[in-house]
Amino acid sequence: MTGRTHDLAAFAGLVIAFLYAPILPALSLSTVIVAFGANFLGALFPDIDQPTSDFWDNFRLGPFVAKVIVPALGGHRHISHSLAGVVLIGVLFRLGLNLALKYVLIDINSEIVWNAFMIGVVSHLVMDLPTKEGVPLLWPFDWKFGLPPWKALRITSGKSVEKFIVFPGLLMLTGYLLFVNQERVLELLKTMLKIG
Ligand SMILES: [Zn+2]
Repeated sequence: MTGRTHDLAAFAGLVIAFLYAPILPALSLSTVIVAFGANFLGALFPDIDQPTSDFWDNFRLGPFVAKVIVPALGGHRHISHSLAGVVLIGVLFRLGLNLALKYVLIDINSEIVWNAFMIGVVSHLVMDLPTKEGVPLLWPFDWKFGLPPWKALRITSGKSVEKFIVFPGLLMLTGYLLFVNQERVLELLKTMLKIG
């Protein structure tokens, strides 16, 4: 899938988690903003192994750095698209986050930010499942998993099925969920802005 589909899917995942989480602490505006950023980053992160991905385009020297890092990661869709990779990415992000919070005095709920990032990462793998390429979930084993299991029935990244069905479908789903749960969304906005 393309970067914008991954971002939208990650946002949809965040909305679902927010709406169906049994208990959610009161969220500050800064936590919500950082969580959105982390979710966005997580959504693109597994494509760190792809030099032309939207992930690298976010940085000034990205395309250059990518040329050095990508070969070290073994090429596209290897460790960063696996379950082992998800665990590793989670641990590294946790360490990085703790370190950043030590030096940057910003009052955020790091648990929420970490979860938002991981929702992005997991949603990325889920969204790559219906693509022809498949996902090596059990890396270092080479087996590629896909949904449906028959490659011929899966879609090609960035082509019409993604553009005209997957993306608009996700957009409608997210809009629908926000609409039917508008009371909960308003409640969150109120606590964040400390009104009512
Ligand atoms: Zn990917």
